[in-house]
Amino acid sequence: MIADDGNLEPAGDEHTTFSTGEFFRRLGVYFFPHKGKVALILLACSLETGFYWIVPLAFRHLIDNTLAVADRRGLIQVLSVLCVGSVVASAASLWRGRYWARVESQVVSDIRFRLYHQLQRLSVSSYAKTSTGELLSRFSNDLSSVATALTMGVVWGALPALDCILGTAILAVLDWRLACLAALVWPWCLLVPPRIARRAAPTAYARKQREAEMLEVVQEQIATQSVVRAYGLARLRMVRFFHADARLFEASVRSAFLTAFMDQASMSGILLLQVLTLALGAWLAFAGDMTIGTLAAFQALFLGVSTSLLYFTQYLRSLLPARAGMQRIEEFLAAGGAIDDPPGAGTLSPFSHDIAFEHVSFAYDGAPVLRDVSLTIRRGSNVAIVGPSGSGKSTIVSLLLRFHDPASGTIRVDGVDLKTVAQESWRSQLGVVFQENLLFRASLAENIRMGRPDAPDAEVEEAARLAGIDDVIRRLPEGYRTAAGELGGRLSGGERQRIALARALALQPQVLLLDEATSALDPQTEAEINVTLRRAAAGRTVISVTHRLGSVAHCDHIFVMDRGRLAEQGTHEQLIGAGGIYAGLWRSDPRSLD
Ligand code: ADP
Ligand code: MG
Repeated sequence: MIADDGNLEPAGDEHTTFSTGEFFRRLGVYFFPHKGKVALILLACSLETGFYWIVPLAFRHLIDNTLAVADRRGLIQVLSVLCVGSVVASAASLWRGRYWARVESQVVSDIRFRLYHQLQRLSVSSYAKTSTGELLSRFSNDLSSVATALTMGVVWGALPALDCILGTAILAVLDWRLACLAALVWPWCLLVPPRIARRAAPTAYARKQREAEMLEVVQEQIATQSVVRAYGLARLRMVRFFHADARLFEASVRSAFLTAFMDQASMSGILLLQVLTLALGAWLAFAGDMTIGTLAAFQALFLGVSTSLLYFTQYLRSLLPARAGMQRIEEFLAAGGAIDDPPGAGTLSPFSHDIAFEHVSFAYDGAPVLRDVSLTIRRGSNVAIVGPSGSGKSTIVSLLLRFHDPASGTIRVDGVDLKTVAQESWRSQLGVVFQENLLFRASLAENIRMGRPDAPDAEVEEAARLAGIDDVIRRLPEGYRTAAGELGGRLSGGERQRIALARALALQPQVLLLDEATSALDPQTEAEINVTLRRAAAGRTVISVTHRLGSVAHCDHIFVMDRGRLAEQGTHEQLIGAGGIYAGLWRSDPRSLD
């Protein structure tokens, strides 16, 4: 299910779910920091349980010793004990309820944090392979099923378990012969449902999996609604949804049936044993071997024990989705993360000399993408990496950003191997603009300031001016305070791109990395942004990646990529003079390599 490379693809339906033991072991890790609080809660539970079992014993005492001889003082004593006990038990129960709610919510929130943290450090390839619906469902379905199991954990799990243990002990004290017969309820309730559960567990996992698949279809619909509409794909998508839903329906029915069957099996056993103990008890009472009070107390206790056992088995049933959810959460948390800094990683000093790729090769899942690429980019130069789509340009950017490490070869900055330095110390020197730039739900000023939260307003505005977006922002009624989310479609692609550019410039980066930053724009806008860029780039190193040649002629140095290899390099004039790939492409269409 989880490959070492961080593959999070859904497993098949034959998947086995965490056992109950495994589930609690995993949960234990999250509860460990709260062990003191959990101990207090268990203490409160014991107080409650203790009281529940005083009641039938008092009952026996009343019947055999007090009512039979009309002992009024004795009656008042017993009733007083019961009164005080009930107050203490109620108080313990109230306190326990509130306290547990806190502890349990804290644990769920801890898990949520770990999930979010993992989401951030997840390797770029895991993101590429895993759908949004699949990732989101770890936060929604999976986590909420674990949360539900925890919410019910005390009332349906811990309390009944304590009840059963203490209750059975008291049954044995009351009458060992009846207790032996009654004890059969244990193996019945504990062994039979798990046998059914073993068959039900994979169906619960399958149900979760299919829920995620169904969500994926919905998510895709939301993301692609304009394509669906434009191409008239509604029916086709409906069929897709219908299939996903039908699979979910089928899994839900199987899962619900098996869980209901599990309950029924326990209940039938309890009813039978109840009748049998009553019969044996009555026979012993007839024979004068047992007092009426003991028989009455025994029956009341047995009912309590078996109800608690029933609760407990129902709780086990409710754990099925939680176990599946927990497993999916743990799988996600265990998935291969992005690159971590090596222990004691050094800090990279400000970029001063050059960036060098030395015989760098790279492959995604064994498919080679870069082969033996060696290139040098000097500080302060303005270089371009060009080549057809799929030739490996963006991969070079990813390697520079250390989204991945090279399979072989080395990337050095000022002679220092990038693998050996703290990523943050290198990334903080980079300003990056991608082709698709999403704005955060924050004001435009905050969006620009994102990379350098302490940038003063003047610098934010200066960055916007350099990116050629300042006047557009000023024309908005709320100016820089306009919320980017509310603008929705009101910002054009070019404007969005300029805000992204302003964000990169506000960082005052040593190196400006532009991956097809202007390729999606119309030639007019592209030309305008290129002029701004040249202005903004003064004194910086600029690496522009593009498949459009029109904007690179002025660059100091051009690298031409072809099927993962560095095919040519030089200035525009040198490359045209050489009459190679670049010259050919320039002749056929100087604007584009498409
Ligand atoms: P370019 O930016 O020049 O268009 P890329 O560097 O994005 O090219 O991609 C180079 C090759 O690597 C392409 O064949 C692409 O399909 C493949 N590729 C890119 N990203 C991934 C990924 N995350 N997983 C697998 N293959 C990828
Ligand atoms: Mg690309």
